[in-house]
Amino acid sequence: MSEIYLNGEYVGTTKEGRELVKSLIAKRRQGVLPWTMNSSYYEEKDEVQINTDGGRVRRPLIVVENGASKLTEAMIAQLREGKLTWQNLVEKGVVEYLDAEEEEMALVAFKPEELTKKHTHIEIDPMMIVGVGASLLVYPEKNRGDRSNYGSRMVTQAVGMYLHNHNLRDDTTAQMLVYPQEPLVQSETIHAAGVDIHPAGQNIIIAVMPFYGYNIEDAIVINKASIERGLGRSYSFRTYVTEANRYWGGQEDEIGFPDPSVRGFKSEKEYNKLDSDGIVSPETNVEGNDVVVGKTSPLRFLGVVKETRLGIKNRRDNSLVVNAGEGGVVDKVIMTESKEGNRLIKVTVRELKIPEVGDKFASRHGQKGVLGIIVPEEDMPFTADGITPDIIFNAHAIPSRMTIGHLLEIIGGKAGALAGEKINGTAFKGNEEYIVKLLKAAGFRDDGKETVYNGITGEKVEASILIGMIYYQRLYHLVSQKMHARSKGPVALLTKQPTEGRSKEGGLRFGEMEKDTLVAHGAAITLRERFSSDKTTIPFCETCGVTAVVDKIKNKTYCPLCKGSKIKNVDMSYAFKLLLDEMKSMMIYPQVVMEEEE
Ligand SMILES: [Zn+2]
Repeated sequence: MSEIYLNGEYVGTTKEGRELVKSLIAKRRQGVLPWTMNSSYYEEKDEVQINTDGGRVRRPLIVVENGASKLTEAMIAQLREGKLTWQNLVEKGVVEYLDAEEEEMALVAFKPEELTKKHTHIEIDPMMIVGVGASLLVYPEKNRGDRSNYGSRMVTQAVGMYLHNHNLRDDTTAQMLVYPQEPLVQSETIHAAGVDIHPAGQNIIIAVMPFYGYNIEDAIVINKASIERGLGRSYSFRTYVTEANRYWGGQEDEIGFPDPSVRGFKSEKEYNKLDSDGIVSPETNVEGNDVVVGKTSPLRFLGVVKETRLGIKNRRDNSLVVNAGEGGVVDKVIMTESKEGNRLIKVTVRELKIPEVGDKFASRHGQKGVLGIIVPEEDMPFTADGITPDIIFNAHAIPSRMTIGHLLEIIGGKAGALAGEKINGTAFKGNEEYIVKLLKAAGFRDDGKETVYNGITGEKVEASILIGMIYYQRLYHLVSQKMHARSKGPVALLTKQPTEGRSKEGGLRFGEMEKDTLVAHGAAITLRERFSSDKTTIPFCETCGVTAVVDKIKNKTYCPLCKGSKIKNVDMSYAFKLLLDEMKSMMIYPQVVMEEEE
């Protein structure tokens, strides 16, 4: 007897499990059962699984019956004319969606030539097996699977033309490549996904060779002249928003140049970018901490008599300020109203980001690297034709990662550039013979290698160097937005330890493993300094071992339990004092036993 499970729950048994699944699938193809249903039979467990719930990953395949595809030439012609739609094919049972469980029972043919009587399905296109994300890459099937995976992930981080109406938008942050290019080696899905009109990279000349150690450990060397011509140049946008709120009692925020008597008034310098209306104008240069919209708000707690006597206005500065460490040029200023009818001002600041040492670049094959050095054009290696590469990529990045697609794209790009045509690098559809033909026709070696000369000494490089064209992306991880250091700075209120994170001017954590390095170097005493960022002195009662109370009015320190005054001052980290307090809040009595230090 086969057990039947519906959406994972036991519902009954049947004598003919296999036949039941067959009839369920047949009914789905006839349109009697919904197309979202999947069913499968497990031979070894004698189990029938029927699934109709959401969240299952499914993929479409063409149904095969008696060794023949159900999608006929006539249907394809009708599809082209628009007389037939995808949904029609699904309803007719020509195309069906399989989930992971039903796919286990299917035998899927890869290409029409492979079809036999045993096959149950055929791929719509061979490249469908890699999915939409990886099918945007070129030659993904030539790389090790994980590399193509990294590659499709890095495509999402590439700086490019993310939308064409960007100048009308007010995204909080945006990155935009100044000279985006369509890739020379393309995949067929690029057009379908609209990636060709939203490019995120540039075709560059690459040489695969070392360069005086400046490209070890995945670093890349970039030609200075290429950067000056606009390679990898991008703009970074940030939009700042402020709203003039209204409060109870008729109080409201005021946008304008704040009066110097206002509480929290910064120095004059921070406000000098403002116009007379208290808002910056477009195309004004601004730096970090500059005010872009002057705004004052009512004080949070009213009726403080002292302050009015001193002649200070009952308002505080609440201006909109450019983030510390950022800046640029005011791109646009939008003045509008919020949903509540309050005055709303948005200021977009744009900053030019020219590639610098430490910026991240990647090809479409999971080969990422940081810029190691920018070399003057005259020092770059050159070929017999006088071609200098834009990027020098280290050959050691290839053997262990086995990204053959990367090498193929270099050769394919070179052939395409020489012949003036786009090369098809779609998964399972690349034509290496054609690339070789183009290269030979242009008078080049068919493996893409050339003799190059050292740009500094003029000597010939002994080995032949692979030099060609490849599509390179600038990833949005820019050093200028990441580098950070601190000497002294703000501390968190609760723990008295340094704040965390670059935006809060935070400290750099010296953690468990970093501690071990100092111990290993015999510098354990240095840890006393490193770990004393929240050092405090707390008075303790010697008899009870609890924190004592300091009464500043009576100038007396006493124990809250025994009221005694046998008090000892103990140095400890504030975080430990906090732990004791938290234990007390949970009805635990942490008694500190003290001994004199030897
Ligand atoms: Zn006590």
